[in-house]
Amino acid sequence: MVYSICKQTNKLWKALIMTNKLNIKILVLDDDPFTLKLLARMLANMGYGQVTLCDSGRAALEQIDRADNRPDMILLDLNMPEMDGIEFVHRLAERRYAGGLILFSGEDEHMLQAAEKLVQTYKITVPGSLQKPVTPDKLAALLEKWTPSVQEGAAEAIRIRGADELRAAIANGELVNYYQPKVEPATGWVMGVETLVRWRHPTDGMVFPCEFIGVAETHGLIDDLTRVVLTGALAQAKVWQEAGLSLQLAVNVSIDNLASPDFADFVAGLAAEAGVPPQKVVLEVSESRIPMDDLRAPLETLTRLRMKRFRLSIDEFGTGHSSLVQLRGIPFDELKIDQSFVHGAWSNKTVQMKYDASLAIARQLDMEVVAVGVEDENDWDNLRRTGCDLAQGYFIAKPMPAAELPGWIETWQARMRE
Ligand code: C2E
Ligand code: MG
Repeated sequence: MVYSICKQTNKLWKALIMTNKLNIKILVLDDDPFTLKLLARMLANMGYGQVTLCDSGRAALEQIDRADNRPDMILLDLNMPEMDGIEFVHRLAERRYAGGLILFSGEDEHMLQAAEKLVQTYKITVPGSLQKPVTPDKLAALLEKWTPSVQEGAAEAIRIRGADELRAAIANGELVNYYQPKVEPATGWVMGVETLVRWRHPTDGMVFPCEFIGVAETHGLIDDLTRVVLTGALAQAKVWQEAGLSLQLAVNVSIDNLASPDFADFVAGLAAEAGVPPQKVVLEVSESRIPMDDLRAPLETLTRLRMKRFRLSIDEFGTGHSSLVQLRGIPFDELKIDQSFVHGAWSNKTVQMKYDASLAIARQLDMEVVAVGVEDENDWDNLRRTGCDLAQGYFIAKPMPAAELPGWIETWQARMRE
């Protein structure tokens, strides 16, 4: 009897696991078609019913951006041409991916462990990694170790917005600018702010850029969006300037904006209209979006902006593939170390190494360095110890509406005096 109950329970349990497996969405990303086929067969044999195969990072991101297709688990090859595994993980983090991830690679174990640690800094669950060739038993063991928190993932998952909805929001003035302070760790001086766009949605509340910047870029809306953000930010800078607040103003621009031949003139016209000197305006471009093959169009606009005395910043540094030589060819004034190499660097050797390397590159190229993602006092002390020029992060202040900035500056100054 006992045996039969146990057997029954066991059967039920197995059935539950099988149903669960049928519902789990797994995405496999590898540029090698043979490995893709092999992994697909292994997963099918294990009972996983929803497996998507992708041979490039771009194809995988397209799948992930479709809300109904968001995977619960990703099997990711580290070494791929175009977008490699590390860059892909960064793109996942931007999309607030909340599922699991297993890395596999032909690299040695040491390399895999370092990559694993890096992925964990993005708060992505990594049950482990696998050296190629992947065997069914090792893969099964890792998948079993990982308990899929599908519901948790769904709760945190972001919703990618529709292009029509976004177009209407831009036209109806639903986009608003928030501003996050940038301060000097050595003195606490509030040097400037970064403009970060938000969508005040009539029914969904505040919507963050990760849900709509990509949509704007792929649907030809990014020029309109950037124009709205820039116009608002420069008008605000004028208000602060007239109130005696001298702040540098940073605005994020997409690489697609730089392809418009009139972009530099448009920015210069707006700044002149607002009476804000170009030296006080920084245009931030994400490193990972800078094409390293054909730079002509963006380089032309960047150079024209620089000639007009605007400041240029390379953003999210560490997430792309720039080499020193390539960086020397673009007239950047500032380098922003990505937050994944700032928060917690003091407690993680690999992260600290990335942070130190980014700082060293900026020094070699004579650029000002901003560390983003300063979340606690340990991060702040790390910046002071290493002589980083500027800091930005929740430890200092979260992005806020313009009206809150003067009050925040007073509180911050009092905090610094203490
Ligand atoms: P970014 O330019 O790297 O901006 C920094 C992001 O990190 C902001 O997220 C900011 O809120 C967040 N952040 C700052 N300090 C901390 C911290 O201590 N901890 C954590 N966890 N996060 C911190 P946000 O506002 O969600 O913006 C995300 C990205 O969206 C920006 O990254 C930027 O690439 C893009 N973005 C924002 N506004 C615009 C815009 O007007 N145009 C374009 N093209 N992109 C924009
Ligand atoms: Mg930025």
